[in-house]
Amino acid sequence: MPARVLVIEDDPVNQEVVSAFLEGEGCRILTADTAEEGLRLATAQRPGLIFMDGQLPGMTGYEATRRLKADPATATIPTVAFTAQAMRGEEERAAAAGCDAYITKPLDAEVFRQTLRRFLLRREAPAGL
Ligand code: MN
Repeated sequence: MPARVLVIEDDPVNQEVVSAFLEGEGCRILTADTAEEGLRLATAQRPGLIFMDGQLPGMTGYEATRRLKADPATATIPTVAFTAQAMRGEEERAAAAGCDAYITKPLDAEVFRQTLRRFLLRREAPAGL
């Protein structure tokens, strides 16, 4: 069964770039353009991985991550923040919110691929073998 990845991103161009990449990697994609919709989908669909834009209209991606990590139903879903390279202090904000990793935009294909493998393989590895 292909991995399901939730992309929470308000910028349509970035959402398209990320979705095209994930499709190329054989993932099934769920998308949300607000934190509120992202939280709803995360709870209802339990994706294997979440990519979270830090800067969203209304609730930020960091606040959404805090809520995901506080909810036992979604706490174990790896959440990777992504945000503009030029923003200072974003890595610290992502870590403080409980994000499992942090990558910068514009997305580097190799970094993105490695991040995907790291979290999806970890979850798919059989326990105790
Ligand atoms: Mn944004």
